[in-house]
Amino acid sequence: MLKVFKFGGASVKDAEGVRNVLKVLKTTGDSDKLVVISAMGKTTNALEIVVRDYLNQASFANSLQIVKNYHELILDELFEYKQHPVFLKIYQLFEELENFLKHNKSLKYDFVYDQIVSFGELVSTTIVSEYLQDQELKNTWLDARKLIKTNSTYRDAHVNWEKTQAIIQTEVETNKLNITQGFIGSDPNNFTTTLGREGSDYSAAIIAYCLNAESLTIWKDVQGVLNADPRYFTKTELLQQISYEEAIELAFYGASVIHPKTLQPLQRKEIPLFVRSFIELDKEGTAVSKGQKIVPNIPCFIVKKEQVLISLSSRDFSFMVEENISEIFKLFHKYQMKVDLIQNSAISFRVCVDNKFNHLEKLLQHLKARFKVDFKTGVSLYTIRHFDEAAINELEKDKRVLLKQLTQNTVQLVTEN
Ligand code: ADP
Ligand code: ASP
Ligand code: MG
Repeated sequence: MLKVFKFGGASVKDAEGVRNVLKVLKTTGDSDKLVVISAMGKTTNALEIVVRDYLNQASFANSLQIVKNYHELILDELFEYKQHPVFLKIYQLFEELENFLKHNKSLKYDFVYDQIVSFGELVSTTIVSEYLQDQELKNTWLDARKLIKTNSTYRDAHVNWEKTQAIIQTEVETNKLNITQGFIGSDPNNFTTTLGREGSDYSAAIIAYCLNAESLTIWKDVQGVLNADPRYFTKTELLQQISYEEAIELAFYGASVIHPKTLQPLQRKEIPLFVRSFIELDKEGTAVSKGQKIVPNIPCFIVKKEQVLISLSSRDFSFMVEENISEIFKLFHKYQMKVDLIQNSAISFRVCVDNKFNHLEKLLQHLKARFKVDFKTGVSLYTIRHFDEAAINELEKDKRVLLKQLTQNTVQLVTEN
């Protein structure tokens, strides 16, 4: 039965990472697999700069050259034989990108963004696929834009499940080794779309769902899902087992180790998810499956930085009632603000939002026309699942808390930084 693997940017950030993909596939078996791969390292960020320069009508030659040089270095290390067809393939991909930049007439940021940043994944999968081939690991490179059909909400595309399932089931030969891109799909007019930043996990889940895969394994630079983000917390522990619900909650609150949309498709078909280290191949990592109790049962800490706290009250001290609140939510939806936390009282309404799509200015303008508005950018949102007194005290001890909310299982704190 087919297994789906996903390798993220960190796992293929250099030539050694690509060689390690070969090692993982040799260790775990190299047939009956579909491997989803992200752009290498921080390529998506680098391509975002190309988009910015291009749309600012500045010269994008430098920012594009940075992306090219980075991949050239990796290519040079991986392929000794300089006439290898991979060099031409990568050259052609960049040429295709430059052709788009030359001929495109649209100034729509989201559309242009998707047409450009998608090349990160196209380039990375071409390099990995060719490298595996070169090392005698036969594989089929699949264009994810032909597999995953979406609507035209660029940068946050929604999957057309019916079409996607039908295509994937006919196009993928499940007994082979297949390589495809995470993050990207295409709309009804065959323009490239993307599924949202960090969306490769979600791509892997979509494909696992459509193929009724045996399991999905996400290979990471950490041991698995930890009880806190090691970038911000010094003491962390591996969660060996969690349920889909627990994983959904953790991802929803911002545990960036798994993209939040990844879990639902897996849960629907009860496809187990494994989060494992691509370095320590003998370790089992985290298993996510149905109804598992969390092991070990300890508080889990999640932090989302650079959030915005908005406080609204009516201009005439009238109550904040359903009518106002529904109006506010319509605006959040319109400006693609992801709402993290809500707190309301009789005459005020406070909300912590993620300004992911940079529409804060426009939103505030709109809100100010109707309400008294206060806002603070750069705040942090901390969430503790399965909290106890000690966990809260530990977190609060060196922070200025702006807002605190407790439910049975979860406490959330908005802090100054
Ligand atoms: P990918 O290479 O797949 O894109 P990411 O860098 O997006 O990988 O995700 C892995 C990183 O997620 C880890 O290096 C870690 O810093 C971060 N992370 C955040 N929260 C957690 C958590 N609860 N457990 C493990 N890692 C976490
Ligand atoms: N390359 C994309 C990003 O960096 C998708 C992903 O890595 O999951 O957001
Ligand atoms: Mg990532």
